[in-house]
Amino acid sequence: MKINVSKIPEGGMILKFERNGEWFRENLAGTTPGDFELDRIGIDCTARRMKENVFIEGSVTAAVDMSCCRCLKMIRLPIGSSFKYTFTPPPPGSKVETELNAADLEFSYYEGDVIDLDMVIIEQIILQIPMKPLCAESCRGLCPHCGIDMNTASCNCRVEVLDERLAALKQLKIQH
Ligand SMILES: [Zn+2]
Ligand SMILES: [Zn+2]
Repeated sequence: MKINVSKIPEGGMILKFERNGEWFRENLAGTTPGDFELDRIGIDCTARRMKENVFIEGSVTAAVDMSCCRCLKMIRLPIGSSFKYTFTPPPPGSKVETELNAADLEFSYYEGDVIDLDMVIIEQIILQIPMKPLCAESCRGLCPHCGIDMNTASCNCRVEVLDERLAALKQLKIQH
C-alpha cells in the first residue's frame, strides 16, 4: 500500500485493508526472520497530514502459525499491535539514511511524495512474532530422553533416570 502524500486530505483519511501470508513473504524479499507463516493480516489506520508532515496511527492484527517451542506442535497465535509513525520529507541537502535504527523506528522520511505503508506493517508484524511460542503456558514439552509428547502420553524415562541416580548414590555410599 503506497500513499500519495499530496492526496491525503487535511481532514485525514482512513485506511482499512487486509493482506495475506503471500504478500508478507513477497515483501520480505528473501530474508527469513524465522519459521512462521502468517495469515489474515488486517490493517486499520488513519493518515493525517499537516503541510508536508504525515502522521499515521493505527493497528495491525494477524494470525501467525508456528510450532510450540516445547512440544513442536503447530499452533496459531493471534498477534497485534498499535503503531504511530511520523513521516517527513528529508531535510534539504542531507543524504537520507536508509538504515534506520530501533530508536528511529517511529520516525521516517519519505521521498517523492510517496509513503510506503507496507514497510511499516511488516516492521510491526516482525516485532510481534513471539520468540518462544507456547501452545499453552502449561505445555509439558517432549521427553528429552525418548521424545514422546508428554502432554498426550507418558513414559518411564524419568523414573529410570531417577533409579540410575539412586543406584549411583548407593554405590558412592558403599565405596566410603
Ligand atoms: Zn506445546
Ligand atoms: Zn521418555
